[in-house]
Amino acid sequence: MKPNAYRANEEIRMKAELSRKEAESLIERDLKCPECGYKAGTVFSDCTGHLTIRCRKCKTVSVLNLAYFRRHRRRKYKTTIK
Ligand SMILES: [Zn+2]
Repeated sequence: MKPNAYRANEEIRMKAELSRKEAESLIERDLKCPECGYKAGTVFSDCTGHLTIRCRKCKTVSVLNLAYFRRHRRRKYKTTIK
């Protein structure tokens, strides 16, 4: 019996379940490949920061700053982008 490994698994599963429940109230957005427009991934509305996506169609690896791909566009403040 490996209590530590088992506990870690249970904890991860609980976190995954919690994440899924939280995500039910969020809006999903498709991320499209900047090269060919193919759907390259899905993010939730509370996602921030940078993400690496790999297009399954044209195999392009792209780094996207999710701040540029928000549905609700805020006014551009230079100080918000570092
Ligand atoms: Zn592509």
